[in-house]
Amino acid sequence: FDIVVLGSGAKAAAERLTGVGAGSVYFSEAAAVADYTAEGYADTIAALAKEKGVKAILAPATTFGKDLVPRIAGLLGVGMVSDVIGFDGEAYLRPMYAGNLVAKIAVNTPVAALTVRETAFEATAASAGGSPVAEIAASEGVGAKFVGYQLVSSARPNLTEAKVVVAAGRGVKDAVGMKMVEDLADTLGAALGASRALVDEGLTPNDLQIGQTGKIVAPDLYIAIGISGAIQHVAGMKDSKVIVAINKDEEAPIFEVADYGLVADFSKSLPELTDMIRSIKG
Ligand code: FAD
Repeated sequence: FDIVVLGSGAKAAAERLTGVGAGSVYFSEAAAVADYTAEGYADTIAALAKEKGVKAILAPATTFGKDLVPRIAGLLGVGMVSDVIGFDGEAYLRPMYAGNLVAKIAVNTPVAALTVRETAFEATAASAGGSPVAEIAASEGVGAKFVGYQLVSSARPNLTEAKVVVAAGRGVKDAVGMKMVEDLADTLGAALGASRALVDEGLTPNDLQIGQTGKIVAPDLYIAIGISGAIQHVAGMKDSKVIVAINKDEEAPIFEVADYGLVADFSKSLPELTDMIRSIKG
């Protein structure tokens, strides 16, 4: 396999990727691809894929990958599978209906374009030997042009990369409850997440939503507070290593996926838990 890195800083990134067993690591820092547009990146990668005669083009099933790979598939006229979680030798596997069934999709074209769910695979181990690094030509693409970024700053870690996620649901009710959840998150250095119900209530922005129509996360520790555990929510967090749930309803479905559960009113137990963690941390 080969790796392609595009954008400003791509050369340094490519040099850091020489020890993971790739045939080659290609990069471009050209102005045309210095900042991401689906048009420029897709043109650049499609041209390289044609030149090298590759059998498959893969990107993570993130918002980025989901924006980019369908366009590459369109440019090359090849079959595409989204959200791949496995390959059985003939067909690609992808979850559907909030993970309630796994579809098998065979690609009929000689080249396959795939977005891959990162949480379904182990990271590649570092290997000995350096892969060659080579600069490639870049294309600006037609139809859209990068204009600028407007940065949203947050002191908390990124939701999809955090080792600990503290997520709130409709059960936290209001800003007072939300503050308790934020206190726990900040005490643990955790990212904040939310159910769709809480987003719909307007208590959190929708980029914090976890689930089928939100972000997919798999942290080491996931703490769900006042979340019932609807399948559409569970689809976004069930691969977390340790799941803790606090809910006042002992019948709540979240307890079926939780490793540890506390049947309690969060407004009493959460401040106690946060204080306890604070005192342990000193
Ligand atoms: P509720 O289901 O209302 O649960 C609130 C929970 O809080 C209850 O279990 C209650 O016992 C508990 N509670 C109340 N008070 C307290 C208290 N004082 N202390 C402790 N516990 C308390 N949802 C998502 O989250 N993410 C998605 O991506 C998503 N996508 C969807 C896509 C589709 C097509 C559809 C149809 C739905 C989707 N949903 C999604 C919505 C999903 O079906 C649920 O409606 C939603 O997850 C419920 O959110 P909740 O658990 O916060 O709220």
